[in-house]
Amino acid sequence: MTSIKEFQNLMHRLYFLRDSKRGVKTTIEWLKEEVDELYEAIRNDDKRGISEEFADVLAWLVSLANVLDVDLQEATLKKYAGNCPKCNSAPCKCPLK
Ligand SMILES: [Zn+2]
Repeated sequence: MTSIKEFQNLMHRLYFLRDSKRGVKTTIEWLKEEVDELYEAIRNDDKRGISEEFADVLAWLVSLANVLDVDLQEATLKKYAGNCPKCNSAPCKCPLK
């Protein structure tokens, strides 16, 4: 199984030079574009598209973390250490919004 850290390292190896040249602003615009494409795939009940767009959203999220020098695995496991960070329960007992 690939960890978040291994996936982030892979994205770094594949794209960091291009991502860092592109910069934060353009990289986050690409992430937003991919989230929009995921939304459209879900609206159209496009099963294959949904799967591919999830992959693109994750890849761009990780690219953005690389450009900002954020360790996603460390950040994620620090915040989500087993219980919901807001209500401290598992499963979450926060009121639905
Ligand atoms: Zn909660």
